Amino acid sequence: MTLLPFGKLPAAKPRSFVPQAIDLGDWPQIAPLFDRLETQAARVSSAAELECWLLDWSELNAALDEEASRRYIAMTCHTDNAEAERAYLHFVEHVEPQVKPRQFALENIYVAHPRRGELPGLVAAGILPAVEPGFQPGGKNACQQADAIVSQTPAVSTPSPGGRVPAAPGRYQVFDRDVTNHVKLFRPENVALETEEAKLCQQYQKLIGAQTVKFRGEEKTLVQMGRYLEEPDRALRQEAWELVAQRRLQDVDQCDAILDELIKLRMQIAKNAGFDNYRDYAFRQKGRFDYTPADCLEFHRAIEAEIMPAVREIQADRRRQLHLDTLRPWDLAVDPHNRAPLKPFVEVGELVARTQKIFHQLDGELAAGFRQMQDLKLLDLDNRKGKAPGGYQSTLSEARVPFIFMNAIGIQRDVETILHEAGHAFHAQAARGEDLYAYRGAPIEFCEVASMAMELLGGEFLEEFYPAAEANRARKAHLEGIIGFFPWMAVVDAFQHWIYTHPSHTRAERQAAYLELMDRFGGDVDWSGWETMRAHSWHRQLHIFLHPFYYVEYGIAQLGALEVWANSRRDKAKALQDYKAALALGGSRPLPELFHAAGCGFRFDAAAIQPLIQLAGSELKKL
Ligand SMILES: [Zn+2]
Repeated sequence: MTLLPFGKLPAAKPRSFVPQAIDLGDWPQIAPLFDRLETQAARVSSAAELECWLLDWSELNAALDEEASRRYIAMTCHTDNAEAERAYLHFVEHVEPQVKPRQFALENIYVAHPRRGELPGLVAAGILPAVEPGFQPGGKNACQQADAIVSQTPAVSTPSPGGRVPAAPGRYQVFDRDVTNHVKLFRPENVALETEEAKLCQQYQKLIGAQTVKFRGEEKTLVQMGRYLEEPDRALRQEAWELVAQRRLQDVDQCDAILDELIKLRMQIAKNAGFDNYRDYAFRQKGRFDYTPADCLEFHRAIEAEIMPAVREIQADRRRQLHLDTLRPWDLAVDPHNRAPLKPFVEVGELVARTQKIFHQLDGELAAGFRQMQDLKLLDLDNRKGKAPGGYQSTLSEARVPFIFMNAIGIQRDVETILHEAGHAFHAQAARGEDLYAYRGAPIEFCEVASMAMELLGGEFLEEFYPAAEANRARKAHLEGIIGFFPWMAVVDAFQHWIYTHPSHTRAERQAAYLELMDRFGGDVDWSGWETMRAHSWHRQLHIFLHPFYYVEYGIAQLGALEVWANSRRDKAKALQDYKAALALGGSRPLPELFHAAGCGFRFDAAAIQPLIQLAGSELKKL
C-alpha cells in the first residue's frame, strides 16, 4: 500500500550522480556519495568543472530533500500508520544528523576552493579577484549539456554564437554569499550552547503544551478555547478568555526564567562568533544582507505613524457595531454583526473546483499549474481522522513539483489557506527550470510575497464561493486581519530588538519595555483588571522563545503582497506578469531584486506604507 496520495513522479532531470537504485533512507548507501563529492572537489581544475560539481551536489541535495518530504507527507497524511511514523523518524534520527556535518564539510571545501573566485558572477561582481586574467566566465559546461532539460524557464544562460557565454549577472553571487556566511559564522564551541538552547526551547514547548483548562466540565487546550472568542454571547467569551488568562498567569515566572536563560546563552553564542550583541549575530545568521536593524526600527515607526490610525478606526467601528463602551480583549475575534460563520463550500471537491475557477479568471498559466497539481494528485486537502493538523506546501525537489496539505472543514479560512499555499506552489512551479538546488527556494521574505499576494489576487474572485455581499464580508475580514497583523508584528520584533541590545536588563525593565510597546501598538483595548496579563501577553508568542528575530519577515512580505495587489488594481496583466517573472527567479537574486522584479519596492518606511494602507482603507470603506 502506498501512503502517498500521488503516484510515481519522474525526476525533472534524469539523475547523473545519484544512483537510480539507491535507498535514500539508508545512511551507509548515502555516505559514499559525500565521499565522492569530496574527492571530486580535489580534482576540479576549472570553473566549469566546479559548476559541474555544484550540480552533482545539487542533485544529491534534491534527492535527499525529496526523500525527507515524501516521508513527512506520508506521516502527516497517516498519523495513525506505524510504518509511516517509523520511516519518518528513521530519516530524522539516522540520516539527517549524519548528513548535516557532511554538508558543512562540503561547504568548507567550496569556500576554500581555489577555483571558486572564477565562478560566473563572482568575478563580474567584484567579490573576488579573478585568478586567471584570461578566464572566460560560464564556459561550456559538459555536465549541463548532457542532460535533457525539462525546464520551462532556463535560468542558466545558454551558449551564444562564438562560444563565449555571457554569464547571468552575478550568477553565483547569492549562493556564494550564503555559503560563505554559513561557514564564517560556525564556531565549534557554539555547538554545545546550541544544544542547551534547543533544550530550553523544548522546556518552553512542554510548559505551553501542558496548559489546559476545565471549561464546562471538559478539559480543553488553550488552542481549542480560541473558538469561544468567536461566540456571539459576550459573557461566554469573557468566561473563556478569563479562564485562559488565569491559566497562562500560573506560568509567567517559568516563562520569564526560560527567556532569561536563553538570552544569556544567545549572548554567549554571539560573542563566540565575534559579535557585540545577539541582534547583530541573528541578522547575519539569517543571511539578512539586504536590510539592517535600523531599517526594522524605521518599519516599526512607520507602522505606528501610518497603520495605527487605521487600526484604531477599525477598532472604533467594531466597538460601535457591537454596541459597547469599550473593547475588551475578548471582543476582538467575534463577528461585529454577530452573524453566523461564512460557509464557502461543503465538499473538498467544491473547494478545488471553485479555486480552479478563480485561477482561471486570474491567469491561464497559473490555472494550468493548479490543474496539473490535481492531475498528479498533489493535493491532500480534506480533514479526516488520522491526519496531522494544519496546512503546508512542500516541494518534491527532484520531481520539482509542489504538494499542498491542509485540513479543510468548510470555512472561509480554508479558502484563504488554499490561495496562500497555491501561491507557494506556483513559486515552486515557476522556479522548476533552475538547476542549482539552492536557487529553487527563495528567502522567506519573498516566499511569503508569493503566497500572501495570491490571497489578495485570488480574493478578488471570491464570488466563485459566495453571493456578492458575503464575498465582501470575507474580503473585509481578510483586509482587517492584514492591517491588524502589522502592529503585533512590530511589538514582537521591536521587543526583541530591545531585549538583545539591553542584555543585562532586569525582568522589571523588560516588562516596562514591553508595556511601552503595547502602549504604542496595542490600540484602544481596555485591559483593566487584567494588567498583569497584558504585561505578559508576549509569553504566548513562541517565536520570541524558539525563533528569535524570525517574524519581521512576514511584515516585509505583507507589504510586498499589498504592493502586488495595488499594482494589479492599475494593470492586472502587468502585475501578474511581474509576479510570475519574480517567482521564476527562485532564490537566484538578492531580496531587493526579487521584490523589484515583482513590481515592488524593498522599503519599509512611511512613504512605502502610506499608499498601501490608503488603498486598503479606501477598499474597506467600500465593503
Ligand atoms: Zn506561507
